[in-house]
Amino acid sequence: PKTLIAIVGRPNVGKSTLFNRLVGKRLALVDDLPGVTRDRREAHGRLGDLEFRLVDTAGLENAAGGSLEARMRAQTEAAIAAADVVLFMMDARAGLTADDERFADLVRRSERPVVLLANKAEGKAGADAAYEAYRLGLGDPLPISAEHGEGLGDLYDALVPFF
Ligand code: GDP
Ligand code: MG
Repeated sequence: PKTLIAIVGRPNVGKSTLFNRLVGKRLALVDDLPGVTRDRREAHGRLGDLEFRLVDTAGLENAAGGSLEARMRAQTEAAIAAADVVLFMMDARAGLTADDERFADLVRRSERPVVLLANKAEGKAGADAAYEAYRLGLGDPLPISAEHGEGLGDLYDALVPFF
C-alpha cells in the first residue's frame, strides 16, 4: 500500500491500541533504525477495504539521547512529515492536557491533513466527553474506542478521501 498513516498524540491516549487493532496479525516490524526512530513501529494496516502503511509513535524506552520531550518531539515530527494523513489522538476521558496542545501544535504547523480522534469514548458518555477536543482547532473530533472497536465506521469514512 502507498498511503502512509501516522498515529500521533501524547503518551497513554491509546495510539498503540488502535495500531494493534488496525494491524491485527499482520504486524511486521519494518523499521529498526537507530536513534529517535528506533522504536517507531510501522506495519501493514487495514480498515474495511482500505489498506495502508501505519506508523505508531512515541515509544520512548529505547530512544537515544536528548531530553524525553526532545525525543518525543523529534520522533513525532518525523512521522508527521512522512505521513499522507495524521491521526491525532486525544483521551476523551482524561480531557485535554497541556501535552495534547503541544503535540497538536506540531500537527498544525506541518499543515498535513489530520483526522482528530477522541479515544476512550465508548459508551453513552463518549460523545459528550469528546466535545472538549474541538478546542484543539484540528476540526471535528471523531469519538472512537480503540479498545472496544467503536467508531471505526466513521474513521473509515474520514480516511476514504486519502485513497
Ligand atoms: P499509547 O501510549 O498512546 O500508545 O496508549 P496505549 O495504546 O498503550 O493505551 C494506554 C492505555 O489506555 C492502556 O491501558 C489501554 O488499555 C487504554 N486504552 C486504549 N484505548 C482505550 C479505549 O478505547 N478505551 C479505554 N477505556 N481505554 C483504552
Ligand atoms: Mg504506545
